[in-house]
Amino acid sequence: MKFAVTTLLIFLAAEFNPVPEFNPVLGSLVWVEDPKAAWIDGEVVEVKGEEIKVRFTSKKTVVVKASTVCQKATEAPPYGVDDMRNLAYLHEPGVLQNLKSRYGINVIYTYTGNMLIAVNPCRKLPYLYDKNMMEQYKRADFGELSPHPFAIADAAYRGMINGGKNQSVLVSGESGAGKTETAKQIMRYLAYMGEGRVIEQQVLESNPVLEAFGNAKTIANNNSSRFGKFVEIQFDQRGRISGAAIRTYLLETSRLSHVSDHERNFHCFYMLCAAPPEDVKRYKLGKGNPRTFRYLNQSKCYELEGVDDSKEYIATRTAMGIVGISPDEQDAIFRVVAAILHLGNIEFANGKEMDSSQPKDEKSWFHLRTAAELFMCDEKKLEDCLCKRESVTCGDPDSAAVSRDILAKTIYSKLFDWIVHKINSSIGQDPDSKSFIGVLDINGFESFTTNSFEQFCINLTNEKIQQHFNKHVFKIEQEEYTTEEIDCSCIDYVDNQDVLDLIEKKPGGIIALLDEACMFPRSTHKTFTDKLYLTFKNHKRFIKPKLSRAKFTICHYAGDVTYQTEMFLNKNKDYIVAEHRALLNASKCSLASNLFPPLSEEPSKASKFSSIGSQFKQQLEALLDTLSATETHFIGCIKPNKLLKPENFESKSVLQQLRCGLVMEAIRISCAGYPTRKQFYEFVDQFGILAPEVLDKSYDEGTACKRLLEKVRCKGYQIGKTKVFLRAGQMAELNARRSEVL
Ligand code: ADP
Ligand code: MG
Repeated sequence: MKFAVTTLLIFLAAEFNPVPEFNPVLGSLVWVEDPKAAWIDGEVVEVKGEEIKVRFTSKKTVVVKASTVCQKATEAPPYGVDDMRNLAYLHEPGVLQNLKSRYGINVIYTYTGNMLIAVNPCRKLPYLYDKNMMEQYKRADFGELSPHPFAIADAAYRGMINGGKNQSVLVSGESGAGKTETAKQIMRYLAYMGEGRVIEQQVLESNPVLEAFGNAKTIANNNSSRFGKFVEIQFDQRGRISGAAIRTYLLETSRLSHVSDHERNFHCFYMLCAAPPEDVKRYKLGKGNPRTFRYLNQSKCYELEGVDDSKEYIATRTAMGIVGISPDEQDAIFRVVAAILHLGNIEFANGKEMDSSQPKDEKSWFHLRTAAELFMCDEKKLEDCLCKRESVTCGDPDSAAVSRDILAKTIYSKLFDWIVHKINSSIGQDPDSKSFIGVLDINGFESFTTNSFEQFCINLTNEKIQQHFNKHVFKIEQEEYTTEEIDCSCIDYVDNQDVLDLIEKKPGGIIALLDEACMFPRSTHKTFTDKLYLTFKNHKRFIKPKLSRAKFTICHYAGDVTYQTEMFLNKNKDYIVAEHRALLNASKCSLASNLFPPLSEEPSKASKFSSIGSQFKQQLEALLDTLSATETHFIGCIKPNKLLKPENFESKSVLQQLRCGLVMEAIRISCAGYPTRKQFYEFVDQFGILAPEVLDKSYDEGTACKRLLEKVRCKGYQIGKTKVFLRAGQMAELNARRSEVL
């Protein structure tokens, strides 16, 4: 059954109000929105037409419009409910309060229907994840035990084995919310279903390897993944892991040459500096002091609390071995990593000729020689390709430094791709596998003070995921209504196709216009931005800022984001400088030379223009195709406070995340329909007391429920084939009546 969503929307606007009608009276308990504390509860002490006076427990009073407050449940369970849908009132303050009271007793997981919400505990809770716990979830049905990622993993596993359908688990949330940790627990559980063979270990050990090269300390998270990841775990007929494929997205290479205060470069650099003395010597890192390398010393942060880089180095080496990276390959990888550090230390001064440059001093010459030695490439050629760029007009010291950083970033991103590729080929793909479970760990919606191309790509991803999610939740709801044979015209979803069109429509979307700009040598970010202004001047989702000529704003589902266009063109261009390619292709190190095959061997690059934006868009399309063919499970991770300190629940920030993320949307869709469903017998058991006569008569259960609801004058509910469907708030009303009678 397919629905015309737009018609439904109009219908919905006229017919339903997702928040149940509430007229506060004297003595009503209410929630009032507060700019600092998000929502505060109090009691209505005065009603004057549209305005009411509310007194908080602090004795402070406020006067607010009656229509802006939410009803507070009189008797909420002190430690919350496992499933948000069992809340008396399913609104923002109710959801927030539920998460907060649970968090206070270290209950970090909560369901909203099938979706899991995970609040980062910001401390280790080992008892939650031990073998005993996995064993329990293995034996239980979904919903039988407390909410847990294992329950989600188990549901996915059973869906695959019993339902014969591929599955995916989407983990979302902002940086530091706990996505990667949660994704790892999912993978651990799936590996547990096997028999502890090598392949399960390899799948698990791919995590520390990728983290060593792709994670870094940021302000938001000491172990922040600087790339997106989709791991497809394949299973054989017997339900054991038989292969895996890892796809990664958008490694943040800009970090390589530029590290902000209080952050670090990728972990592997510090690990290598802290390696055993013989390795430090082998890779020519002097005393192994990270403070001596420019790529590491821009930020004064070197050590991480609770992390010993020398131990991490050993652990990474071990993990690399397990995932099938040979000792020789490991040696080559770390040689390249060390070479990059030396490369970063080369400084330039004016050369003898006009518009030329040369290494600044003996120290710079030393680093150049060492880098060449480690890269196993020709020293003179390395000097030439940094200092004398033939294809580019200027050869001054500044552009030499730019060229140096571009080279470092290109090599590092190729190295990362190589590692991913190597892990994939050594774990192996199972060609006979019929089923898989995919785990997606990708950064949530981002909106900073300045946003560039990276945020643009991440936010595009999130728009896509949001659309997938909306469709999914809508479909699930619709299916349940259909099997119960009740009218489902009251549910809808707001489609964000218009934002997606704005960004990725071909031709004419922002990415297409950006590619066009990149192909014309005379384009600048200004001409590109002007083109956007002209093209989208009437687009509902596009805003031209009043003052700037180098910015544009997109109205994303999660809020407006203004993007700075200065670097858009540069960041979108994907090419390897010909001299860089030639230099490394000729390296005597087979790994380095393999990273840079001759252009003719890279068919995709040889002929047509290729851009980061378009490639990413294609990757995303492939990802979404994969996801769409699976049954999806969602986990929304929440960061309780900015500093990741335990026992600190900042309601305001959590609310912001609930609004931007998938959680509130799931709730909204659920509220628009019938958030409470009860089996007939359950319903009669619980509320029969309100109309005892229906219990005596020989009504069938469905009719008994109907009579009961008629008697208490409920409206708008529906009776399905096995369940009663109640509108938001009705459950609370029934409970209140029940306690009156009791
Ligand atoms: P994200 O991937 O969303 O950026 P991470 O998964 O890296 O966030 O989590 C950030 C940090 O929070 C972790 O390094 C860990 O210290 C802590 N953390 C997250 N989830 C948990 C958890 N379930 N139990 C214990 N600590 C956690
Ligand atoms: Mg992460």
